[in-house]
Amino acid sequence: MRALTLLFAIGCAAAQRPETLLSQAVRFPTVAGNDQARKDQQAWLLKTAADLGLPARDAGPVTEIELPGPAGAPVLGLVVHGDVQPVDEKEWTFPPFGGVIQGGYVYGRGAADDKAGLVDALLAMHALKGAPLTQTVRLLVGSDEESGSQDMKTYLSSHKPPDLTLVLDSEFPVVVGEKAWDGLSVTASDEGIVDLEAGLSPSIVPDRAKLTLKADAGFEQKLHAPDKDTRVELQRRGDLLDIVVHGRAAHAGVNIAGGRNALISLAHVVDGLLPDCPARDLLAFTDRVVELQMPAADGWRGWAINPATVKHAGGKYTLIVNLRRPPPWTAAQSREHLYQVVKAFSPRLEPGDYYFGDEPLVFDPNAKIVKRLMDDYAKATGEHPPLAVSGGGTYAKKLPNAIAFGMWFPGKPYPGHDVDEKQPIDDLHKGLDILTLTLRDLATSPPLQDPFAP
Ligand SMILES: [Zn+2]
Repeated sequence: MRALTLLFAIGCAAAQRPETLLSQAVRFPTVAGNDQARKDQQAWLLKTAADLGLPARDAGPVTEIELPGPAGAPVLGLVVHGDVQPVDEKEWTFPPFGGVIQGGYVYGRGAADDKAGLVDALLAMHALKGAPLTQTVRLLVGSDEESGSQDMKTYLSSHKPPDLTLVLDSEFPVVVGEKAWDGLSVTASDEGIVDLEAGLSPSIVPDRAKLTLKADAGFEQKLHAPDKDTRVELQRRGDLLDIVVHGRAAHAGVNIAGGRNALISLAHVVDGLLPDCPARDLLAFTDRVVELQMPAADGWRGWAINPATVKHAGGKYTLIVNLRRPPPWTAAQSREHLYQVVKAFSPRLEPGDYYFGDEPLVFDPNAKIVKRLMDDYAKATGEHPPLAVSGGGTYAKKLPNAIAFGMWFPGKPYPGHDVDEKQPIDDLHKGLDILTLTLRDLATSPPLQDPFAP
């Protein structure tokens, strides 16, 4: 019996290291459409929760994991997502779903966004077992945050939201503003060139763009130099020339400056060299759109504009531009302005809606919950960074009484959505300490009344 208990304790201790759990979580390729990976990850979640002594339930597109408080107590929610952005495996040094632990990092798609938050939430809840709780802590793990974003909507149609929710999918210390997510589509007829394609997803700075055209011998010599930190690869196939530009992927909302846009670089490489055709205007428009000057409220650090993908279908090329919009403009104002810009730029380009259904989220910086979270962050770290405003929207827009709290640290370029996405193990431990202290504070105190009021 004693030997068995000891073995069990060793097994548990090993499983409870956050980097070990994170490495396991990263191995599920939970990209949009991979339902098997979603199910496998959910089975892993239910088992891991059971190992940690936390009751867990399948709640459709959401998995609920609980640290029960007194019967009938209010619910303090934590929200993360278990799905991830797509990957272009060719560009990765590490296997994107290998869960490699090396040199102080856990590597893999989702390591930072958002499986680090998932693992820290599980372990912080486990650390609070036996504490004198005034509230039930409930972790909600979503499954399509990076694609359709229907999970919370579906969940809330049959489940009551928590009374107060911390969203663990952004930055520390506390996110008091989230920009809106706009998506502009621009289409052009495909005549004049053979093919054009770029990018993986609207929320990723494209790290690859490819143009194929008929070109006379010697055309290669006329090409311009690519943008800094991007490179060109040429392939000749008879009278056809493939021009491939490689850049660097990055999160289009929170780390656009860390990316190198391959599509814009491609437009520069062929500037003035293409036959007179609609696709020429489409490529040139990528430059025009990133230079737009549009109004932005103070403290919001302006717009982030990412010409993201080009797809070829139905005799047309369609460019998707993702824009992260600060106040004061509404979606309708943004859309109208962008449509006019497209039409004025070229009559051969057709503007369209990819998505104009979002508005910025703004919190009172003096709200009780904001001050409480800032205090807890300072107690846990001894640091007093300024309040955060984010270019990335989170579940805080989808749930009532929800605010983003971590788990990325201020001043560091965010690796989510990037190739070779990696989570520093030190930060994983630091995040766990902060979250544990914060939960201990909030969930063992009387529940905050009117937490979003000053
Ligand atoms: Zn995320």
